[in-house]
Amino acid sequence: MTEPKNDVQNQFEQRDPLTQYPQPPFPRQPQEAPGLTSAMQPLPDHGEQSYQGFGRLQGRRALITGGDSGIGRAVAIAYAREGADVAINYLPEEESDAQEVVRLIEAAGRRAVALPGDLREREFCDDLVARTVSELGGLDILVVNAGKQVSRDAIADITDQQFDDTMKVNVYAMFWLCRAAVPHLEPGASIVVTSSIQASKPSKNLLDYAATKAAEVAFAQALSGQLADKGIRVNAVAPGPVWTPLQPSGGQPQSKVQQFGESVPLGRPGQPAELASVYVLLASQESSYITGAVIPVTGGTLF
Ligand code: NAD
Ligand code: MG
Repeated sequence: MTEPKNDVQNQFEQRDPLTQYPQPPFPRQPQEAPGLTSAMQPLPDHGEQSYQGFGRLQGRRALITGGDSGIGRAVAIAYAREGADVAINYLPEEESDAQEVVRLIEAAGRRAVALPGDLREREFCDDLVARTVSELGGLDILVVNAGKQVSRDAIADITDQQFDDTMKVNVYAMFWLCRAAVPHLEPGASIVVTSSIQASKPSKNLLDYAATKAAEVAFAQALSGQLADKGIRVNAVAPGPVWTPLQPSGGQPQSKVQQFGESVPLGRPGQPAELASVYVLLASQESSYITGAVIPVTGGTLF
């Protein structure tokens, strides 16, 4: 089990956000992409011990890409505790992370479906939506969350392969998944895209990645316009630095991982658990009048 040790009771408890979670410096901790949760020090908090649900997504059926770890794992836990059945997609090498999420969804009394596979392939994306619909009996919530991020200091160091992979995972798969999902979505359904603060404040070492995150915002907003008259809402979340395997597995140089989050006003990285409530809100009927929005969760950096 890779559950964090902290004293956060639930997501409502009044706390000082500066000291609620670990602050830099962090230990060096390089690992290979896509990275595993168990290798992170300290372990991220996905709300395992703290997230309390209130039936806000009772009976909904959700598909979350990158649902094995990081933000996607926190969203999967929260959705299940709010009453949703949840399918997660991830890469085959992340099976151990995915199995923990399956266990947590089932512990919440909901149905979990594990659907490993590579989002860089259109056929797989089509199949992922079709299998979710057949396993869960439909689809109400699509969370486009998987992401590829590889830090490079110079444009000359970005290979065609890296550029392709980043575009495929972050942009093409979003298009393929949404195109396949829309025919299954009914009024009241919701699509949530994980973009980034990089969409508006691109870092020089994340050239290709930042471009995809800006594309995600424009895509989500344009799609929200297309789907409004069907009663389907589309929104984006723009996280700042969040403590997930994406960063130590090549998303940032180790020197930045060690100081991760120090430059945001709250002085520390966000934990995946701190993102979950926004994804619950955007998926639930409580946000019935919110579509085409970008919600920053950045520790204070202005979007
Ligand atoms: P994470 O590593 O836990 O999740 C990313 C997931 O993407 C992986 O678990 C993996 O399953 C999936 N993925 C990567 N390549 C794939 C492929 N070819 N096929 C299928 N799945 C693939 O990290 P995270 O930080 O939780 O990332 C989730 C989202 O949050 C990403 O879109 C990322 O860009 C975004 N984001 C993260 C941060 C941050 O600081 N961690 C900040 C802003 C935005
Ligand atoms: Mg992962």
